[in-house]
Amino acid sequence: MEKEWNTRTKLVHGGTQRSQWGEVSEAIFLTQGFVYDTAEAAEARFIETGPDEYIYARYGNPTVAMFEKRIAALEGAEDAFATASGMAAVSGALISMLRAGDHVVAARALFGSCLYVLDEILTRFGVEVTFVDGTDTEQWRAAIREGTTAVFFETVANPTLEVIDIRTVSELAHAVGATVVVDNVFATPVFSRAIEQGADVVIYSATKHIDGQGRALGGVILGTRDFIRKTLEPYMKHTGGSMSPFTAWVMLKGLETIDLRVRAQAASALAMADALQGHAKLSRVIYPGHATHPQAALVREQMGKGGTVVSLEIAGGQTGAFRFLNALNIVLISNNLGDAKSIITHPATTTHQRLSEEQRAALGISPGLVRFSLGIEDADDLIADVMQALDAV
Ligand SMILES: *Cc1c(COP(=O)(O)O)cnc(C)c1O
Repeated sequence: MEKEWNTRTKLVHGGTQRSQWGEVSEAIFLTQGFVYDTAEAAEARFIETGPDEYIYARYGNPTVAMFEKRIAALEGAEDAFATASGMAAVSGALISMLRAGDHVVAARALFGSCLYVLDEILTRFGVEVTFVDGTDTEQWRAAIREGTTAVFFETVANPTLEVIDIRTVSELAHAVGATVVVDNVFATPVFSRAIEQGADVVIYSATKHIDGQGRALGGVILGTRDFIRKTLEPYMKHTGGSMSPFTAWVMLKGLETIDLRVRAQAASALAMADALQGHAKLSRVIYPGHATHPQAALVREQMGKGGTVVSLEIAGGQTGAFRFLNALNIVLISNNLGDAKSIITHPATTTHQRLSEEQRAALGISPGLVRFSLGIEDADDLIADVMQALDAV
């Protein structure tokens, strides 16, 4: 029955499992352990853990399982594993499947911590990583070779909002038997059809749109049952990056409203991108859902909508960008995204500060670039706030 539900129904009811009390809101099983009736029952459960059986919260927990089932239903994945943060998900997915001598091809435009995992950690353990311009099919074609184990990319790159063609890269990867792992945060679970388009493993930082209200860190990895239970779960449960039951409950409540929130945020982002076209204080307005985006056709095909983030290049470099940020009244200066509250970030001095100036330039992170995550406030209020702040530049 659940399989045939439409998205909004899945988001409210998917994965729900009620206790004998018949609670309406999902129960938080705030317990790290579980009691066995007998010593023999404990032994049997350690040999084979059946459905609805648990051992220890690092391995699994009923509230966490509800979250995993709900997001798997939404994404059309066979299974999911919830993690303590988005980075526990990224590092866990990659490390659990790789070994020394393996070869990974990754897009260069990555969230700073993702770049650290690929460039500094995996290479330390003998994994070879080749970085490519993710928007250039020919670079993927040249880099993916016989024996490539995995490819990794952010489907929409942070913060430059370049979009990577999941279908094309997946075909190239699958031709040599490589696993396609995507960080899908900016696409959001609402607009994603990544698995249908060829991704084998889909990762979210649940900290972003899934919570959507800035309360908790979390992450999730989605894939085939075989990958999640045989490759990933042993790694996660023994290394300790599992999600806490309380966080899972926050994320379950977040999923209930994610479709409403993200669609409203995307509508505001489009309205903002429209209102800012040709503004004298801006040298660029980047929004994947706008007709002016260089990959507008791919965005329509792959995501339908453009997501919840607009990036702006302020004339006057860092000085201009700082004046703009400091003049905003509603939009908060912070570094989360996907939140109900509008948040603005200056990547060059915060999220991407660790990179060299050359690396930032190569990624298009100029001193004037700001990343603007649209919240669920009234769009006219947000546009008015941005316009008055641009006057201060
Ligand atoms: C935030 C983010 C992450 C990391 O998620 P955390 O929950 O902060 O660990 C990974 N990838 C992308 C694209 C992100 O935006």
